[in-house]
Amino acid sequence: MGIVLVLVLAPRFELATANEYLVALVLVLGLYASVFVHELAHLVVARAYGMHAPSITLHLLGGETVIEGESRTPAQELTTAVVGPLVSGAIALAAWLASLWLGAGLAAGVLWSLAWVNAIVAAFNLVPGLPLDGGRVLRALVWAATGRESTGVRVAAWIGRLAAVAVVAAALVLRDRLGTGWLVDLALAVLVGFVLWTGATAALEQADRVGRVNRLVASELLVPAVDGTATPTDLPVLPDGLHGTMLLRAMAARPAPTYAVVTPDGRLVGLLHADAVDDAYRRTR
Ligand SMILES: [Zn+2]
Repeated sequence: MGIVLVLVLAPRFELATANEYLVALVLVLGLYASVFVHELAHLVVARAYGMHAPSITLHLLGGETVIEGESRTPAQELTTAVVGPLVSGAIALAAWLASLWLGAGLAAGVLWSLAWVNAIVAAFNLVPGLPLDGGRVLRALVWAATGRESTGVRVAAWIGRLAAVAVVAAALVLRDRLGTGWLVDLALAVLVGFVLWTGATAALEQADRVGRVNRLVASELLVPAVDGTATPTDLPVLPDGLHGTMLLRAMAARPAPTYAVVTPDGRLVGLLHADAVDDAYRRTR
C-alpha cells in the first residue's frame, strides 16, 4: 500500500520542492528506499518467526513483499504487521528531526518531504482494514478474541472495503475544496480505492479457500475397509486422522490416485481416493 501512496505523492513533492532534477531524483530514491525498509521490516520479523519468506521483489511501482503462507499465531501476525508502520513512523521522525537540524535549504526541504510522506504511509497503513497493515493487526486481535481466524479476516476485510468506498467518497465530497486539480485527485482516490477493494476481496477469497481446505477430513472421505483387511502394499500410506492442509501436504508429498489410510498400530482404516478429496473441495464452494 505504501507503494501506491508514494506513487501518488512523489510527483507533487517533485514539483513543490525544487526544479532541479537531481533533487527530485534524490527525493524519489529516498521514498523508494523508505518503502523498501518498510517491507524489509515485515520480512525480517516474518523470517524471525520461521515463516517461509522467499524474497523481496522490487517492482516498478515500489516494493512488494511476498510472504508464503499465513502467520501461525495472532501474536506473531500482529507483530509482523505492526513493524511496517512503526518503521515508517520512525523514518518520518528521523527525517523531520534532521530537517529541523538543517534549518533551511534544499536538503532540509527534501528531508521534510520525506518525513511527510513516511508519516502518511505510517498513518494510512494503520487504518484497520485489509489489505493494510492495520487490517492485519485487527485480524490478529479479532482472531485472538474469538479463536477464529476466519472471523478476523471477515471483519478486517469488510472494513477494508469500507475504507475503499470512503476514499472515493471523500474525493467526491471534497470536490469544491480540492479546486482545479480535482479530477486528478479523484482519479488517484479511485486508484487507491481500487487497490484497497481488490486487496480486501482477495483476503476474503483466500480465507474462503483456507476454510474449505480445513473442512476436508480424510476419515469422512475414505472408503472404509472391512475389518481385518490387509493393507495393500502397492499404495502410499497416510496416517489416520489427517485433515486440512496437513492432509493435502501429505498427499502432495506422494501423488497417487489412491492412498491407504492406516492407524499407528498398522490397521487399515480404508482407502482414500484423490478424486474424492478433489470432489469434496469443489462441493464445499
Ligand atoms: Zn506494510
